[in-house]
Amino acid sequence: MHGLMQYHPLLVSSLLKHAARYHGNTEIVSKRVEGDIHRYTYAEAERRTKRLVRALQRLGVKESDRVATLAWNGYRHFEIYYAASGMGAVVHTVNPRLHESDISYIINHAGSTPVFADITFAPLIEKIAPGLAGQVRDYVFMSDEANMPPLELPGGVRVHCYESLVAESVEDYEWPLLDEGSASGLCYTSGTTGRPKGVVYSHRSTVLHAYAVSTADAFGLRAIDRVMPIVPMFHVNAWGVPYAAPLNGAAIVFPGRHLDGASLASLFNAERVTMALGVPTVWMGLLQHMQRTGERLETKPRILTGGSACPPMLLETFTKEYGLKVCHAWGMTEISPVGTCDAPKPAHLGESPEAEMRRKLKQGRALAGIDLKIVSDAGEELPWDGKAFGDLKVRGSWVASGYFGGQPGSALDEEGWFTTGDVCTIDPEGYMQITDRSKDVVKSGGEWISSIQLENIAVSHPDVAEAAVIAARHPKWDERPLLILLPKPGHTVNPQAVLKVYEGKVSKWWLPDAVVVVAEMPHTATGKLQKSVLRERYRDYLTSGGCS
Ligand code: AMP
Repeated sequence: MHGLMQYHPLLVSSLLKHAARYHGNTEIVSKRVEGDIHRYTYAEAERRTKRLVRALQRLGVKESDRVATLAWNGYRHFEIYYAASGMGAVVHTVNPRLHESDISYIINHAGSTPVFADITFAPLIEKIAPGLAGQVRDYVFMSDEANMPPLELPGGVRVHCYESLVAESVEDYEWPLLDEGSASGLCYTSGTTGRPKGVVYSHRSTVLHAYAVSTADAFGLRAIDRVMPIVPMFHVNAWGVPYAAPLNGAAIVFPGRHLDGASLASLFNAERVTMALGVPTVWMGLLQHMQRTGERLETKPRILTGGSACPPMLLETFTKEYGLKVCHAWGMTEISPVGTCDAPKPAHLGESPEAEMRRKLKQGRALAGIDLKIVSDAGEELPWDGKAFGDLKVRGSWVASGYFGGQPGSALDEEGWFTTGDVCTIDPEGYMQITDRSKDVVKSGGEWISSIQLENIAVSHPDVAEAAVIAARHPKWDERPLLILLPKPGHTVNPQAVLKVYEGKVSKWWLPDAVVVVAEMPHTATGKLQKSVLRERYRDYLTSGGCS
């Protein structure tokens, strides 16, 4: 027997429609690339978004076409998200921090026709446009006529001004009913191994993810919140905030391009931000700024950290010295991205502050709609005892089932589980803790050593800014941990003093065999430590007598 309930497809446009109708006066604030602050409301955002759809139609964009963006977090980017998806096309966010050859590859592979760009990316567009000349017809600069950049582009390519396109359009558009399974967004993985791969989000997966991250134990968003997505809209939809905020009627504060501690702290206070999301690198920058200047975050916002492991020192200082509530989340491009968050369960009520810290350093438990398991090398499921660690697999309604254009590496096994590439433990309460990326784990004499655990201990030393542990080749044990350290500005690191910090914290055989102090650490375009570069450089460090 079928249920007798109405059927309304889960569509991205319904989120903006809801916010415009029920939270029409709620603000969207943007720090613009032009330098000033822009404010308007959800009601105005929907009206301009409808005009933008008309402009896209004039540019020849049709259903399923990909509309590329190269942009920071701001209200115009938000409008493109909804205009492209809402009309049945696909918003294709491109990470401008990638190498230009990867950016060209991604736009070309996706077959995106118009490219929308912030004016700061004009030099980048000049570089990539010749290679995309046969494909990209239109470049739209996201500003007004007065700020249009001077450009030299190949013949046949049209350049438009965003504000003029919007001004020349009417807002008579009605959001169409689409198949909820149709594509709404496209984002390429960071491509730390091989070429980036395209993940295609659907309307259904995006809306379900927005509901799931809104729950109290995840982002816990409310209409009285003022949420600042510091995570970029150009990578995995700023963790779904552009969808979850309208769903809840929360105000949004878009920080634009300046994400240093001073710029962020002033925006937090001026805009009374109550919740913000970012990667640990951003939080470390903010913390260092606050420690240097004595500035504090007056609204005591909730801080959501994810994207890479939360350094214990960050959690401790934010919580104990600044009174901030820190939540730790984990996810991936292929998971829309959020899979787990670390909110407590009844078993944790009354836990000691130390136990709470230990729990919060775990990546957390699955959101409803996501299922997790860990398996051994042989593919057997491992127990949830908080000790056994194995390859993490996930499945759920907002997990990728393949890649755009059938790129290889879909990694779904025969039971439909997606292999994440993360190595984890899961404790009896279901809290997952990442011990490594599968390619980063150190396999010493057949036993696994967690590089993340060793890195976390090293950064607790006051002279250390950043630490990386890689597997260096070893004649007897195959691999041994090598610790690579970046000192804090103005500090000198004494390797022996750092090694002393490990005493009593890990088994002796986990101790790094050697320490290398470097002047710079390599990072990926999404701000993650690029261990592949370090491995390349230092893999033979132990066998070559300490020379790289
Ligand atoms: P991306 O697809 O670029 O978002 O990267 C996903 C990967 O980032 C995951 O597979 C993890 O290895 C890593 N990651 C994300 N969140 C966390 C976290 N909270 N702690 C540790 N690693 C994380």
